Amino acid sequence: MDVFDLRGRLVADYQSYTRSFIKIRDARIAEFVDNSLNAGAFWPEPLLQLNPTFLSGGTIDDLVAKDVLHRECARIFRLDKSDSDHTGKQLFLHEHQRAAIVKAREGKSYVLTSGTGSGKSMTYIVPIVDHVLRSGSGRGIQAIVVYPMNALANSQDEELKKFLEKGYPEGRSPVRFARYTGQEKGDVREAIRSNPPDVLLTNYMMLELLLTRTEDRELVRAAQGLRFLVFDEFHTYRGRQGADVALLIRRCRQAFGGGEIICVGTSATMASGGSSEEQRREVAKAAQSLFGTAFGPDQVISETLERATPEVDLAAGTVKETIRGAIASDEAPPADYDAFRLHPLASWIESTFGVREESGTRALIRQVPRRLQGSDIEGQKSAASELADLLDADPERCSSVLRRFLLHGSKLRRSESSRFPIFAFRLHQFLTRGDTVWATLESEAERHLEITKKAAKPGQPEKPLFPLVFCRQCGTVYYRVKFVSNDQGKAVLPREDRREDDDDGTTDAYLYASAQSPWPRGVGQALLERLPEFMKELSTDGAERLRPESQKDLPESVFVEASGRITREGQGLAAAVIHRNFLFCLEPSCGVAYTKTQRSERNKLATLGVDNRSTATTILAVRSLIELQGDRDLNREARKLLSFTDNRQDASLQAGHFNDFVQVALLRSGLHKAAHQKGSAGLSHGELSRSVFDAMQLPFEEYAADPEIHGPNRNSTHDALRRVIGYHLYRDLQRGWRVTAPNLEDCGLLTFEYVGLGGSDGLLGEARLWDTGFSVREGRAAERLVDTPAALRACTPEIREAAA
Ligand SMILES: [Zn+2]
Repeated sequence: MDVFDLRGRLVADYQSYTRSFIKIRDARIAEFVDNSLNAGAFWPEPLLQLNPTFLSGGTIDDLVAKDVLHRECARIFRLDKSDSDHTGKQLFLHEHQRAAIVKAREGKSYVLTSGTGSGKSMTYIVPIVDHVLRSGSGRGIQAIVVYPMNALANSQDEELKKFLEKGYPEGRSPVRFARYTGQEKGDVREAIRSNPPDVLLTNYMMLELLLTRTEDRELVRAAQGLRFLVFDEFHTYRGRQGADVALLIRRCRQAFGGGEIICVGTSATMASGGSSEEQRREVAKAAQSLFGTAFGPDQVISETLERATPEVDLAAGTVKETIRGAIASDEAPPADYDAFRLHPLASWIESTFGVREESGTRALIRQVPRRLQGSDIEGQKSAASELADLLDADPERCSSVLRRFLLHGSKLRRSESSRFPIFAFRLHQFLTRGDTVWATLESEAERHLEITKKAAKPGQPEKPLFPLVFCRQCGTVYYRVKFVSNDQGKAVLPREDRREDDDDGTTDAYLYASAQSPWPRGVGQALLERLPEFMKELSTDGAERLRPESQKDLPESVFVEASGRITREGQGLAAAVIHRNFLFCLEPSCGVAYTKTQRSERNKLATLGVDNRSTATTILAVRSLIELQGDRDLNREARKLLSFTDNRQDASLQAGHFNDFVQVALLRSGLHKAAHQKGSAGLSHGELSRSVFDAMQLPFEEYAADPEIHGPNRNSTHDALRRVIGYHLYRDLQRGWRVTAPNLEDCGLLTFEYVGLGGSDGLLGEARLWDTGFSVREGRAAERLVDTPAALRACTPEIREAAA
């Protein structure tokens, strides 16, 4: 997989979705928006970062030899063990893992801060297992590990099974552990209570319950003398939740009577900014208040990094020349691991995206993520431009060679058994939902435009910028404003959103200004022609006139200065103010009008913002899954997407949305395939659900409650699904039930024909019927002939069909 290409396709999908909502009539604004989007205003260049290489901390065997660890640890902690024995691979530790194990052996509490993929959980699992081995299994709960999410507890559970169960006869694991979360059912919980494990994996809510429920008293008793209390990802407990957890920890100390509890926390980067020493102090402070025990900076263990490539001096004679040669040539990067590692360009890449020396301490720390390519943003160069400047080369060329080196490095390993390649890198792609166009109050040819919110035109604070909205029907531009009328006169101010009240003495309004179709001044024929029907009536002499009650809904003709002040006639910009509700479009060729009860601005006027965030997220997810499913190089179980969100409601909403989307997509693709197979004859109602069912080719076990059944039961299961599909097919065609997913007929992708209506022998062409009339029978009465209405009699079969 080429992740750069994947990024391109992902952004293209998002782009086409976002652009599909944008309709702007003003050519100058449309071009401005188009250029801004092409420059990546809503989908900037991704940031790139290398996963760092951790300094080695030796092996488990080394620590066993030094008696830091119990000798059984050498059998337990091996990689890829088989079910029956302990061969497998030697487990190499990172330096921060070794330091944590030593700290635990000294009986000290500690916090480990490091990034993802740095083996944080090993920093408490190894010491816990070592402790249980030394003190003896089956003496009650000796360690409690608390996870912020059950998903983390589950994956830890899997991980522990590999170490503690593989290679041992069933039930003879040297250390016993159990998961105790809301997922465990009654009998499992009962088994845990009656035979407590050595290590308990749980979450903080469950731990809270465990301390209070009478049925869990056995567990509290079993945890007397607890040695380890671990909070995984403890940086997640902040604010009120942090206070809850801090108090919970204090109650745990009390309940488990532990004088000697070792408190362990793991954390991602907790404090951003500041030197590593300052960060350590911050983390120690946070740990102290959470765990309620003294924590010094020496108890905060952070990652120790090393370079994967040698550091090079760019000023040295041949270094620049070698890099320049690599950029100029079309040669592939060195295939051999060591040749690649020693290439000066590999060193340059690691210094740019991987690690740097911290000033003062000279320790290696992670580089901040950086753009690979693209133009300068606020004086910050992309990596490719920086390299191009250094070598006096073409930035495009630099970018493509850098990509080649990065991709090659992401596959190259020191040896078969190395877990990570030399350049494991990540792309961080940000996508914004967009805002709207902001413009000054000036003529269409002159107004200054911005794609993001700014208070005023740069350098001209007297010209404020106003947000623009666009008629959904025709794309005509309106300024969204607040209307002020007081002692100082009248004015319009920029308004970002619809507001419920106008406590500040302003009212919601829109401003229309068009040189080509200016709003007529005064009440005359020109004005009447621009008004929608519902604002007009016929007077007794048959002339059209304004309804008296519509007087207050008339747009107000004004002249406005760039500052927003309403000024005298003939000065400033000629415009019209629509007060409060947007009732009709002022552009004469549009003609869209709304009733007063349609108050939602969103349905009438658009911005550039993606209205439906859930759909945007689903589109990105679907594209990622399509790409992953198509990548045969990946293991099947690796073809998956993880999605994180910052609150549960959002997660539930998105999950439901995704399911819906997948269902509709499956149904529609089934229909498409069935219709395609049938060809020009089309599908008739009678064969519809069967054909779509066949086209879907769903595996039986995907929908059958009991996939084992045979014979007539199997047929009736098929039949049930066919009927469900039939129902959903028609339900999906119901009009307007999803604004962002119009049905296939609305999109013009599906047409219906009615049997016996059209064609040469259809009812519509039958002259006798239309000329003379048709017979009807009501109840038990005799048939009687009804005349065909004159209008229908006179028209062509095509018009009759449209009417039908
Ligand atoms: Zn319009």
